[in-house]
Amino acid sequence: MNYKNFINNEWSDADSGKTFEVFNPYTEKVIAKVPASGKSDVNKAVEVAQKAFKDWGSMTAGDRRDFLQDLAQRSLDHADSLAKTISSEMGKPIKDAMTEIEDLSEYLQYYSELARDQVGRIVSPVEKKSMSLVRYEPYGVVGCIIPWNYPLSLMGWKLAPALAAGNTIIMKPSEVTSLSLLHWADVVSDIMPPGVLNVVTGYGSEAGEEIVKHPSVPIITFTGSVKTGKRIARLAADNLKKVSLELGGKDPVIICDDADISVAAKGASWGGFVNSGQVCTSIERVYVYDSIADNFTEALVEEAKKVKLGDPMDKNTDVGPMASEVQLNNTIKKVNLAKEQGARLLTGGNRPEEFERGYFFSPTVFDKITSDMEIVTEESFSPVIPVQKVGSLNEAIDMANSTKYGLGCTIFTKDIERALTAADKIKSGTVCINNPLMENIAAPFGGMKQSGIGREHGIEALEEFREAKHIYIDYDHSKKSWWF
Ligand code: NAD
Repeated sequence: MNYKNFINNEWSDADSGKTFEVFNPYTEKVIAKVPASGKSDVNKAVEVAQKAFKDWGSMTAGDRRDFLQDLAQRSLDHADSLAKTISSEMGKPIKDAMTEIEDLSEYLQYYSELARDQVGRIVSPVEKKSMSLVRYEPYGVVGCIIPWNYPLSLMGWKLAPALAAGNTIIMKPSEVTSLSLLHWADVVSDIMPPGVLNVVTGYGSEAGEEIVKHPSVPIITFTGSVKTGKRIARLAADNLKKVSLELGGKDPVIICDDADISVAAKGASWGGFVNSGQVCTSIERVYVYDSIADNFTEALVEEAKKVKLGDPMDKNTDVGPMASEVQLNNTIKKVNLAKEQGARLLTGGNRPEEFERGYFFSPTVFDKITSDMEIVTEESFSPVIPVQKVGSLNEAIDMANSTKYGLGCTIFTKDIERALTAADKIKSGTVCINNPLMENIAAPFGGMKQSGIGREHGIEALEEFREAKHIYIDYDHSKKSWWF
């Protein structure tokens, strides 16, 4: 099936007529073709988004609320079919794909209300009979660039606050998951005013860069790898655009000697293997106290073996195939390198034999790790957990802080002093105590160090999409002179 770009609520091919293929990672078959868009397609989308901004940006937040709430409801009404699209192009188990749609709906609801509340403030005046108003204004056209691992919920993280703040959007999905965003655009096309949301598919180096370079797109919000984030920041600097970057992670979990070993092993297994380890906050490093290391590692291996791999459309599947052949091959390369560098493979490390097709990779655990191995220094984005022993909390915290990343961290302990000491000293955007990968729509999410710039979720996300303006009002008409 041939899909088209969604520009001004109309469906169009790329001007060049070029397309690329979208695969189902479970069947390994091509399921669709989508436009390989270029400069002229991006130009068209930006132009209509600019026009739409005139009305959308000047509406009251209350008026926009009604639209956003309709979008939220419409998403839920079509949750089954949208979830199937995610599963078929990305390999995500259907139950997780359903959660994505619920999340998307919740973001739309949340920001529809928040934007009404948070419109500005009055600050202390500098003179009598004067007033200083601070008003938050939308930027205009927001360029949103989305990865493939949570195509619709990560779209919602950007779209909901950006629209609620009064911006219009040009959005480029990942090459791997273009269908999910186009499907959603179709589902909401009769609610969305023309030009407010425009979806342009294409390669990052072509359509993506054209969005980033476009002089009429004053702000770029990007989620993806550190490498691409740096490229985008460099390109955006030429026009001094605002950039918010949600990038990769190498999240550690610290298992203290007072933790419940079975609970910690279950948590680490889920945190490391859910979505085939293709989560920015996946557990990618374990630091476990020496005295419980053997018992914990044994329990983690048992948990890894219990993970039920299978058809993404089966409601009982825990983990589907990896999202693409590229992802699978990267994983195989990283696992082989870890073995060559001397890590000991305890379970997994291969494509499971029970599947004749599909880009599956078995949940994998290594020990005998040294801190210089790539498996602990670079994001793997794979279902691979390396386990290292530590002698103390300070050592664990130093090791947790030892990478260039700073997205999230988890600690398992029953000791509140240890837990909060870790929370104080860990350099990451989120610290979870006894429950990995936890997020809260009302609390900021983002990375420190090279894991990103800016925040999503909460009031912080709304701020990303608004500029503050100071309006000074003098109501003393008796003023005669401005000279001191
Ligand atoms: P990626 O960087 O390869 O691609 C992300 C998006 O950027 C895609 O739409 C791609 O087409 C586009 N792109 C690529 N090159 C571009 C360029 N030069 N200019 C403009 N756009 C370009 O990342 P991915 O493989 O899709 O996603 C996985 C990465 O995303 C992982 O590193 C993961 O940790 C990260 N991620 C981070 C978060 C977070 O919130 N911090 C969430 C999910 C994923």
